[in-house]
Amino acid sequence: MTPQDSPHDTARYFDGNALAGPLLEIFAVDVTVADGRCAACGLTGPVAALRVYTHAPGWVARCPGCDEVVLRLVRGPQSAWLDLRGALSLRIPLPQEQAG
Ligand SMILES: [Zn+2]
Repeated sequence: MTPQDSPHDTARYFDGNALAGPLLEIFAVDVTVADGRCAACGLTGPVAALRVYTHAPGWVARCPGCDEVVLRLVRGPQSAWLDLRGALSLRIPLPQEQAG
């Protein structure tokens, strides 16, 4: 993979394929054990503690602190749509990084 020259500054960047490895690792784990931070109230807690409503189109997970939407997930026949705009961050436990 060859870094590209950014038109905006002197920094170099990779195309989105660089995310393939990290995202594969992230989504291969159980995200429900990750700690999410609510964008609305700042409450931090495990994704498993969110309040998940399944009667909407797809699943809607709301913050147990302020009831704002943290996560939306719609599963189609050939793809999933994941909306995380209500989460400031996810801290995902991973196995010890391998040297290499
Ligand atoms: Zn909240």
